[in-house]
Amino acid sequence: MSRYWSRIVHELTPYTPGEQPRVADLVKLNTNENPYGPSPKALAAIAEATSDQLRLYPEPTGQALRAAIAVSHGLSESEVFVGNGSDEVLAHTFQALLKQEGPLLFPDISYSFYPTYCALFGITARAVPLADDFTIDPADYDRPCGAIILPNPNAPTGIALPLSAIEALVARHADVPVVIDEAYVDFGAESASSLIARHPNLLVIQTFSKSRALAGLRVGFAMGQRPLIEALERVKDSFNSYPLDRLALAGATASWLDRDWFEEKRALIIAGRDCLSAELAELGFTVLPSAANFIFARHPDHSGAVLAAALRERRVLVRHFKKDRIQDFLRITIGTEAECDRLVAALTEILAEQG
Ligand code: PMP
Repeated sequence: MSRYWSRIVHELTPYTPGEQPRVADLVKLNTNENPYGPSPKALAAIAEATSDQLRLYPEPTGQALRAAIAVSHGLSESEVFVGNGSDEVLAHTFQALLKQEGPLLFPDISYSFYPTYCALFGITARAVPLADDFTIDPADYDRPCGAIILPNPNAPTGIALPLSAIEALVARHADVPVVIDEAYVDFGAESASSLIARHPNLLVIQTFSKSRALAGLRVGFAMGQRPLIEALERVKDSFNSYPLDRLALAGATASWLDRDWFEEKRALIIAGRDCLSAELAELGFTVLPSAANFIFARHPDHSGAVLAAALRERRVLVRHFKKDRIQDFLRITIGTEAECDRLVAALTEILAEQG
């Protein structure tokens, strides 16, 4: 080990992000981006902010953006925290709230950044296995712990828990922080933000990367009662007092306010998901019930790794995980109709070739 490295950094296994290839003409269905692009109003706001204003520091609290988000969720501005992508909001959350006496519980098949943050911040992690049907059974979390984090819908399975189950879990664990990571909530699950007023231990995290098609702008946010938000602010202010730049503030605020664009594109993605799920089922795939902008599917007779590699040869990128229980699954982002058609045509060809 280099003597300049800390042991924690030396032993850290960093998160491996999904591939961002530099070649054109790929059907890119591997990182759950939104194929329709951001609201034109967001693009116009970013263009307007790209001016002499860039000379000036941004407004340090993201006030206008926080106010817009708060109004839609029936919260006060001080109950919203914004950050540089929900990854950064999650990082602040792990550091500020999830290092407790007891272990942090999260599903064993879940967002793979969670174990990385645990290693980085010295948090004891306890992964809770999913049920046989890949759902989260909230009863499995009824054990002594210091905190809980769950994605809803879960990733990469796409399966959502009903709001009633989330509320019961949050209530049963009233003495520890419970974080619901809602990166994909807009595609078919119900947000737990409506529970915040009744549950001081609940923090809800969302992103502009998926349903708002602004993954490149890096904007995410957390919602919760004041003491939780204040904890995030304390960490943020000790780290970087300008979490969002001027372009991100302008673009995200305009995007949030363009409700029509949001509803139209989210409906297209949900319809595309239903259509692709049916087409893959016809090809013999088992498709888990998704409430997200991706589906998680496996074929009983074909290895996931082989299918992913054969798709790649045909210039279609999907996500494949090497993890034991899910290594035969493909996680496929819902693209445009043309992209989904190309995927289905490629899979039809591959399955015929492989017999
Ligand atoms: N949570 C989950 C469950 C995710 O899948 C992702 C996206 N990879 C994120 C959070 C982070 O998204 P972003 O940083 O783009 O907001």
